[in-house]
Amino acid sequence: MAPLPALAAIVVALPLTLLPQDRSASWEWPLSTQRVERAFAPPQSEYGPGHRGVDIPGRPGEDVRAVAAGTVTFAGQVGGIMTVTVDHGVERSTYQPVAASVAPGDAVRRGDRLGTLLPSHPSCTSTCLNLGRLRGSDYLDPADRLRAEGRFRLISPEGPPPEPPSWNGSGLVNLLGGPITSPFGMRVHPVTGERKLHDGVDLGAACGTPVPVLASGRVSRSEYRGAYGEHVEVVHADGRATSYSHLSRRQAKAGDQVAAGDVIGAVGSTGRSTGCHLHLMLLVDGAPVDPLSAQG
Ligand SMILES: [Zn+2]
Repeated sequence: MAPLPALAAIVVALPLTLLPQDRSASWEWPLSTQRVERAFAPPQSEYGPGHRGVDIPGRPGEDVRAVAAGTVTFAGQVGGIMTVTVDHGVERSTYQPVAASVAPGDAVRRGDRLGTLLPSHPSCTSTCLNLGRLRGSDYLDPADRLRAEGRFRLISPEGPPPEPPSWNGSGLVNLLGGPITSPFGMRVHPVTGERKLHDGVDLGAACGTPVPVLASGRVSRSEYRGAYGEHVEVVHADGRATSYSHLSRRQAKAGDQVAAGDVIGAVGSTGRSTGCHLHLMLLVDGAPVDPLSAQG
C-alpha cells in the first residue's frame, strides 16, 4: 500500500486558474453524445456574428443534464429559443433548446436532469444542443471544460485534503436513478443456482449508461475480475471503498484520482451476469457490507 507521500507525485495537469476551489473545473457532457458538431467561434463584438457555444448532436426528447453543480438562474425563452441557465459560481452554463423541468432557484448537482432536448435549433443540421459558457458577459469555449472521453481531472497535491464521502445508503443506491433489482444478502444465484452471499446491490440501468463515482477518491482497481467482469474500485478518504462491476467499458485506471460524479465506465453485462445492470459494492475494511446501511 503506497503511503500518502505518493500523492505528491501526481501530475498537475490543469492550469492554476482551474485548481480545485473551482468546482466547475471539469464539465460533464450534457447529452449522451460526447462529440461537438460545431465548434465555438467567439463574436468579434458584443452583438456581432459568431457561434456562442458549441453544438452537440442529440435526439429529440433526450435528457439534458447539468454539466456541473450549481443553481438554475433562468428557464425560459431567449430570442424565441427555450433556454436554461445554470450558475456555477464563477461561470454559467447555458442550454438551448430545452424543455425545462427545473425552475430558477433550483439547486442541481452535476448530471442532474434539466429538461429534454427540443427538436429544432437553427444552427444545427439535425437535432442538437447548443451549450454555452459565460463568465460575466464574456462567452468562453465550453470545449475547454468538457473532458475528452476517458480522461480525468487530476487533483492537485497542494489542494485541500479530500473530503470524506457525503452519501448515505439511499444516495448510494440512487446513483443511476433506477430501481434496485436485487438487494444485498443471501440469495440463490441466478446463473449458478448456488445459495451464496450477494455482496452488493444490483441497480437496473440500460446498457451503456454512464457510471459516476459516488465520492472523490483514488481508483484502486480497474481490471477484468472474474465474475465481476470489467470492474472498477475506488477508495475514499475515510478508507471505505465502492466498486462498480459488470461494466461494458472502464474509463479509469488504477491510481487515477477521481472526483464525485466523474464517469469511470458504462453499465454492461460482463462477467457472471444475466443482463445489463450495475453491481455496486460498499467495502469496509475490505469486506462487503450492505450499501443501504451506509451512513453519510
Ligand atoms: Zn449483483
